[in-house]
Amino acid sequence: MIWEESSLFKNAVKQLDRAAAIMNLDPNVLTRLHTPKRALIVSVPVRMDDGHIEVFEGYRVHHNMSLGPAKGGIRYHPDVNLSEVSGLAMLMTFKCSLMSLPLGGAKGGIRVDPGRLSRTELQRMTRRYTTEIMPFIGPEKDVPAPDVGTNAQVMAWIVDTYSQIKGYSVPGVVTGKPIEIGGSLGRVEATGRGVVYTLIEAAKFKNMPLDERTTVVIQGFGNVGSAAAKKISKIGCKVVAVSDVSGGIYNKNGLDLDHLNDFLAKNKVLKGYPEAEFVTNAELLELPCDILIAAAMEGQITEANANNIKAKIIAEGANGPTTDNADEILFDRGVHVIPDILANAGGVTVSYFEWVQGLQQLFWSEKEVNNKLWDIMSNTYGKVQNIAIDKKCSMRTAALISSVDHLSKAMLLRGFFP
Ligand code: NAD
Repeated sequence: MIWEESSLFKNAVKQLDRAAAIMNLDPNVLTRLHTPKRALIVSVPVRMDDGHIEVFEGYRVHHNMSLGPAKGGIRYHPDVNLSEVSGLAMLMTFKCSLMSLPLGGAKGGIRVDPGRLSRTELQRMTRRYTTEIMPFIGPEKDVPAPDVGTNAQVMAWIVDTYSQIKGYSVPGVVTGKPIEIGGSLGRVEATGRGVVYTLIEAAKFKNMPLDERTTVVIQGFGNVGSAAAKKISKIGCKVVAVSDVSGGIYNKNGLDLDHLNDFLAKNKVLKGYPEAEFVTNAELLELPCDILIAAAMEGQITEANANNIKAKIIAEGANGPTTDNADEILFDRGVHVIPDILANAGGVTVSYFEWVQGLQQLFWSEKEVNNKLWDIMSNTYGKVQNIAIDKKCSMRTAALISSVDHLSKAMLLRGFFP
């Protein structure tokens, strides 16, 4: 089927099948999880600033809604396609179930390079996309959030468009909104913060200190990577290299993050940062370090570089950064990989908190949000670690087992329709 074409989708299915074999999953449940529930493809015509019209292709996919309304980000990126979005929606199902959130899995996106659009073009594209996927989304059925290439401003335009058409204000249609229109404190940093929470637990397990002796390399310095960098350096670790789409920068003595952020505010990309050596993204992954945080895109750690990675712990801030073959190599080498559905689940968890706060019209302090996030992340990490020890499997397979066990119980209890 068309949604099976991408390596990300195939990888997600392989991970599911491996867990299913170990846990003796009901074959009917497995068959149903192999495909998304439904997928919408939309044309998004946009009047560009010079007056001509361009048409972009957009998607919204629901993978499984047995646990509750679907949840998943919206991605603006030139590589977005139906199969990739479907694979990401499947990962969202597993992530929400792993964290025991009452939510299903979805994902959406537009095949576009957002950097090429002006702010007004971006706004018109977002508003038109919202109207096209309107039958799919809503606070009780599917609640989008930011992902690569989108942010709180994009979410604000979605809220406004949806509300204008409904005739009343519906802030609960998305999460990751600005605070002023019902967003949650702590949401912007939640994914990166959650990555670090899982690293704290992993370091305890591996008896690794987390202080100035500990070196950290981060691929991707966007929402997830920069928040993770801030949090892990606050703990006392040394961030020695980071990268973005322009390449990486490396300073074995540690990067000054405040200085780096000032540089980025002026220059937009990392390339050209003076107080570090330039490295390519490929070189960055193989730098000497204790911890590698993969927080850019999928398919970055492959069988071509898995043997050269020096990190003892890898945290997957991104979705699907490690291919299936690379995963096996890393497991055999004893590298401790904290899988995406666990490591980056802080984002959807605080999105869930935002949704709950919005429904109650009662907002929590940032401390309350972070404490609740810590409890969920550390408890879930412990659960997954115990399964990995018990079944002698990777943390990824253990996370899948835990997630699919919870989900399959819900699916079997609800039964099959019609
Ligand atoms: P973002 O757009 O804010 O940042 C992405 C970063 O990766 C940017 O620095 C970009 O320059 C860099 N990048 C892009 N292509 C690259 C490449 N080929 N090599 C190296 N760097 C590259 O996106 P984000 O929200 O930080 O998301 C990053 C990853 O985390 C994605 O896989 C996303 O699905 C996942 N994720 C995000 C959230 C969230 O809350 N934003 C939650 C869960 C998972």
